Amino acid sequence: MQASTAPDLAVTARPALRISARSVWSDQVWHLDGHRPGANRSDFSLDWGFALADDSRFSDPQWADWREAAKLFLWSLKLDPPAGRRNVHESTIVRIFNMQRTLIRWMAAQGYRSFADLDRDGSDRFLAAMAQRPGSKPGKALSTMTLQHYANLLTLLYLQGSKFPEVAIDDPFPGIVPPFVRRDRGWLPYTPDAVAVPLVSAALRLIEQPADDVIALQTQAQAAYDDALARGISQTKAGFVATDAIREFTFSTLSGEESPWHEAPVTSTKQVRYLADRIYDACFVVIAYLVGARVSEILGLQVGCIEQHPASDGSESFAYLAGQIYKTARGVDGEAHRWVAPAPVERAVLVMEQLTARLRAQSGRSELFLVMASTGLVGPAARTDLPVVSTIIRRLNDLFAPFIGLPDHEGEPWHLNTHQGRKTFARFVGKRDRTGLHALQAHFGHVTRAMTDRGYVGTDFALDDLIDRHTREETRAALEEVLTATTLAGKGGRMIAARSQFRGRTRDGDVQAYVRFLMEETDLRLGVCDWGYCVYRVETAACFGDEKGPNPVLRTESTCLTCANFAVTARHRPVWQARRDRNADLLAHPGLDPVSRRVAETRIVECDRILGELDHGKDGRDGA
Ligand code: SF4
Repeated sequence: MQASTAPDLAVTARPALRISARSVWSDQVWHLDGHRPGANRSDFSLDWGFALADDSRFSDPQWADWREAAKLFLWSLKLDPPAGRRNVHESTIVRIFNMQRTLIRWMAAQGYRSFADLDRDGSDRFLAAMAQRPGSKPGKALSTMTLQHYANLLTLLYLQGSKFPEVAIDDPFPGIVPPFVRRDRGWLPYTPDAVAVPLVSAALRLIEQPADDVIALQTQAQAAYDDALARGISQTKAGFVATDAIREFTFSTLSGEESPWHEAPVTSTKQVRYLADRIYDACFVVIAYLVGARVSEILGLQVGCIEQHPASDGSESFAYLAGQIYKTARGVDGEAHRWVAPAPVERAVLVMEQLTARLRAQSGRSELFLVMASTGLVGPAARTDLPVVSTIIRRLNDLFAPFIGLPDHEGEPWHLNTHQGRKTFARFVGKRDRTGLHALQAHFGHVTRAMTDRGYVGTDFALDDLIDRHTREETRAALEEVLTATTLAGKGGRMIAARSQFRGRTRDGDVQAYVRFLMEETDLRLGVCDWGYCVYRVETAACFGDEKGPNPVLRTESTCLTCANFAVTARHRPVWQARRDRNADLLAHPGLDPVSRRVAETRIVECDRILGELDHGKDGRDGA
């Protein structure tokens, strides 16, 4: 038997073992450290005095040995996990505790008195009992994922039993994989482009002049309210005074628009707060989607978190968001980190500094994303804290989405959550085909430049990994498309179309195996851009690219058209059609000078050639 390597878990050392700043081993309630911004406090406390089926409490003396074993199991996952597993973080401890509590309650109801009583048959019966339990959705049983967690709990007990005899159980799954095979969860979804672009665009619009309007409105209302309170007027009446003070307030008309961005008058302090909250939501969206930080990292941002650092060649200066990463950090307080901050993120921080200044001043705290528990303006006894994640999710879906008129996705409202900003960011940055992302391209271009700068000190490896994975997926999909397309335009396209043995086939296993071979075993590089694919070979690069890849300065539609590396599929048709339409519009302009006219005519001929080549093979997979 392999003994534990954690000296703190020796029997004699345990009673004095400190669990956290507030709790020691022998306490009935363990209050854990490691609370992250946005997390529920209750997710960091656990009570060993839970009730059992016979009305006793697990903290009662008759359960002392089993309780000691249960504590040992739980804390060993942090101090001395099974070989090859990571030490669990405090935020996971309470989740495992909750499952262990369910197991102990079930075992005690069955007459068991220690973990050692759980034989293989007992484990089977426990999992069968869990499979009968109702799930979180009405009428549905527990999800396969939850059942998998219970199976994992049994496996963990078994593995830890090799070091701690007190927690040993029979091997629950001898010689087999656990019964609920872990499904590949794939990606938590990113926000689809058709939703992400209007979402981020609306947020970008709101953090400009509308944010200034709302900050002015809030300041005016709050000043009147404070003044009324100082004069001894009751809070309810002070609210009316504040509403009177803003009766004449009007909102700006934004450039290019015909009417003010929001209707006046504002008739209650609740409405002031409602508008301030929507600006807050917009700032959250801008930071989440343009930085890729996790929700805990955004909520943990402090006032003054923007730093300026020059690029390594001194050519430009990049702004950074300075904050803390919690998820992958070893310490409970997180690790300092800097994210590249495009201009709108700097602006969002500035807006938040003003929007929540009063809450910081009153509470003595320094976080940007503080909220107040009550509605209306800030009263003398306002309770201030960071929101929990579920509050942010509710606000985004129930309040912010309708406020900006977020479009549906495939006929249904799209459900936003706090992971999606990070997933979508990774996809945008990794994505080289930015068709349809023109509104956001400048920001992602800035981030991409800064992240590839030699002076960039990014250490968010998990985020780099996400971006790489998206880039690989995009290249894989593009290669499959090029190899199977019935029609390819462009010089390189014609050559591939003539040679590809997969032409016109569906994307079956053979195609996938060949693409895997190309990606893993050859130095073939496929460049993706809005107007086509570049099957890159330096010796034939019309843009005079080098060993590293195409030359971004000369890489234009017109240059690619003359290049032997260039291929266009039906997916790119809209870009060429739009280019043709733009130039046709230009030609219709009576004041067009002769030089521009000739350029427009040449472009139309180029577009017609590509569109004609695509038509010729009748590839019906437009936009596929
Ligand atoms: S001109 Fe276009 S197709 Fe040719 S190498 Fe450069 S980027 Fe690739």
